Amino acid sequence: MLVVMKAQATPEQVQAVCQHIEQLGFRAHSLPGAQRTAIGITGNQGEVDRGNLEFLPGVAEVIRVSKPYKLASRDVKEEYTVIRFPGTDAIIGGGSNVAIVAGPCSIESREQAFAIADQVAASGAQFFRGGAFKPRTSPYAFQGLGLEALQIMAEIRDRTGMRIITEAIDSESLAMVTEYADVIQIGARNMQNYSLLKKAGRTRKPVLVKRGMSATLDEFLMSAEYVMSEGNYQVILCERGVRTFADHTRNTLDLSIVPAVQRLSHLPILVDPSHGTGKRNKVVPLARAAVAVGADGIMVEVHHQPEKALSDGPQSIYPEQFAEMMTELEQIAAVLHRHVPRGIHVEAPAR
Ligand code: PEP
Ligand code: MN
Repeated sequence: MLVVMKAQATPEQVQAVCQHIEQLGFRAHSLPGAQRTAIGITGNQGEVDRGNLEFLPGVAEVIRVSKPYKLASRDVKEEYTVIRFPGTDAIIGGGSNVAIVAGPCSIESREQAFAIADQVAASGAQFFRGGAFKPRTSPYAFQGLGLEALQIMAEIRDRTGMRIITEAIDSESLAMVTEYADVIQIGARNMQNYSLLKKAGRTRKPVLVKRGMSATLDEFLMSAEYVMSEGNYQVILCERGVRTFADHTRNTLDLSIVPAVQRLSHLPILVDPSHGTGKRNKVVPLARAAVAVGADGIMVEVHHQPEKALSDGPQSIYPEQFAEMMTELEQIAAVLHRHVPRGIHVEAPAR
C-alpha cells in the first residue's frame, strides 16, 4: 500500500500520516520526490484498511502496489534515486551521470593497492573497489586481508579522495565494512542471503547489491527491497553476468537488464564487465556497451601486474587500458547527453 501526499502537504502532515501507520502496527517509509512525497507501508501481511488514511490532512490518494517489491518500484518514486557522497561532488544514479568504480579484485598488499589506486585516480575514477573479504569458490584460495585491507583503503581515500566500495560476506565483516567503507557491497553469492541484506538495511551506508548468478529481474529487485524494508533507501544494483550454457566467457553479461531495471525501478544500476566476461580482452568492449545501454556506471577490475594477481588476474585490465577506456566512455556518453565525471572533488574538512 502506498499513501500519496498532495504536492502542497506540509512536513507535519507527512509525519502525522507516518505516525498513524505506525500506530496501526505497520512500518512507514517516507520517500520524498520532486513533486510530492509518497509513503510506502510495509509489515502488513494482507490488505491495510485504507479507511482513515484517505481522510488524513494532506493525503491525495491511497493506492495498492501490486508488485512484490514496493519501495524499489517506480510506483512509489517516479524520479531516479541519486546516491550522494557527503563532502564530495560524486554521485551514483540520476540518469545522466556515469559513475566509474575501479580497482583490484583483492587488496593484496599496501604497495599493490596504492600502485593501482594512484593510476586509476589519475585517470579520473571517483570510486575505488578492492576486496578485503573474498567469497572464494575454494577454501584454499586467497581469502583477503580483512581488516588490514580496509585500513589500506581508508588511507587510499584520504590520499586520493576516491570513495571506497568493498564487500561484506557475513555479519562480522559487515560491521567492519560499515565502519571503513563508503559503500557496502553484497556479492552475487549473497544476493539471496536475506539476513545479511536486512542487516545491511539497518546501516545507513549505501549498499551495492550484485545480481546473483541465476537471479531473475524480480529476485534481484526483491533483494534491493530487503535492504530498503529496513529503512535504508540508498541501494545500488549491479549486473555482473549470469550462468548460461555459453562457455566462451565466465558468465554471460546480461545488458538487457539495465533498461528492464530502469523501467521498473528508480534505483541506479551499474554494470561489472569484469566478472561478467572473465576475460581481459572482452572487458573494455562490454564497458563501452554498458554506457551505451544506459548503465549508471561501471565497476571494473584493474591490476598493474595481473599475471601475479591473487584473484581474478585474467579479467583484470591494465591501468593503461583503463585510461584509454575512460576517454572512450566519455565520448560514448556524450552521444547520449550523458557525462563521465573525471576525478572527485573533496571539500576541505571543517575545522
Ligand atoms: C567482486 O566484485 O569482488 C565479486 C566477488 O563479484 P561477484 O560477487 O559479482 O562475483
Ligand atoms: Mn573479482
